[in-house]
Amino acid sequence: MTTLIDKYNRHLNYLRISVTDRCNLRCIYCLPRGFIPKLSHEDVLSYEEILRLVRLGVRLGISKVRITGGEPLVRKGIYDFLRALSEIRGLSDISLTTNGVFLTQNIDKIRAAGIRRINISIDSLNPGKFEYITGRNCFEPVWDGIMSAYEAGFAPIKLNVVALNGINSDELTEIARLSFSYPFHIRFIEYMPIGKSELGTRNAKFEMLAPEIIKRIRSLGKLNPVENAMNDGPADRYKFEGAKGEIGIIRPLSHHFCYKCNRLRLTASGQLRACLLSDHQEDLKTPLRKGFSDKQISDIFVKTISMKPFKHQLSLRHSDKVSSQMSAIGG
Ligand code: SAM
Repeated sequence: MTTLIDKYNRHLNYLRISVTDRCNLRCIYCLPRGFIPKLSHEDVLSYEEILRLVRLGVRLGISKVRITGGEPLVRKGIYDFLRALSEIRGLSDISLTTNGVFLTQNIDKIRAAGIRRINISIDSLNPGKFEYITGRNCFEPVWDGIMSAYEAGFAPIKLNVVALNGINSDELTEIARLSFSYPFHIRFIEYMPIGKSELGTRNAKFEMLAPEIIKRIRSLGKLNPVENAMNDGPADRYKFEGAKGEIGIIRPLSHHFCYKCNRLRLTASGQLRACLLSDHQEDLKTPLRKGFSDKQISDIFVKTISMKPFKHQLSLRHSDKVSSQMSAIGG
């Protein structure tokens, strides 16, 4: 049964799940430095509850799942959960987004759980700058984590880099250069003003849009476009001539990709969102805990997608559009 097709003919087959709003880092664009996660243990969906929702989602047409957060690797029991997830029939793709701090010591468990694709966030190759951006002195464990994932055969490894004018803009070329030495997909992401963050409270211009990112990295060589395959993510893909890896540009602000968006998001507190950049969400946690039937819960999925806006309304001039934190929604 495939019912998750909305009125704009978008097939919502991709569910991104935030398993926790907690994070061991305080990235300058994501959370305020003094941020204290507000969800208690009971507020967060249990793994059993998430697995039930995924099974129902699969019956409705979900085939791809990404586990994110907060930082998924800080949640207890995550590796057993990943294994249980990969045993669900009907899921063709399960991936993980992590800040990489705990990757090295856990890479074998992640692989044993059946995960093959990882996205790792790394906004700077300079340990001091890395600490400035993330609020923690942990460039080395993150870099080691990337190398562990590479050596363990994860592919593709995508490196997420939020491009920030005046913060890491001087490093984008060096980061892009990694694609010559490693088969990594380096994905530059336009900063989205979401929720409360350190950057959100400043007035300076941190945003860097795709044309400027491309202009900077072009000095490395000829940048050839790579065609997007079916069900590929929203990145505009490129490859430098002679490179092993790819460059991706994710441009939620400078170029809406809403018309082909296939994503639903399940927040850590059990809210189903049809759009990252709209605060509309439907509660699944209460119905789950009140013993709703599979049919009743499936109906909430269907209702949620009927609310999916054709286009998000976020712009750099209207940064108050999304009040939820990225860490709770799941980036
Ligand atoms: N803790 C994990 C991590 O660091 O990758 C997963 C959660 S994090 C919210 C997921 C992704 O969202 C990261 O790649 C992060 O860089 C990105 N992100 C967070 N806030 C963002 C913002 N305001 N604009 C653009 N990307 C953002």
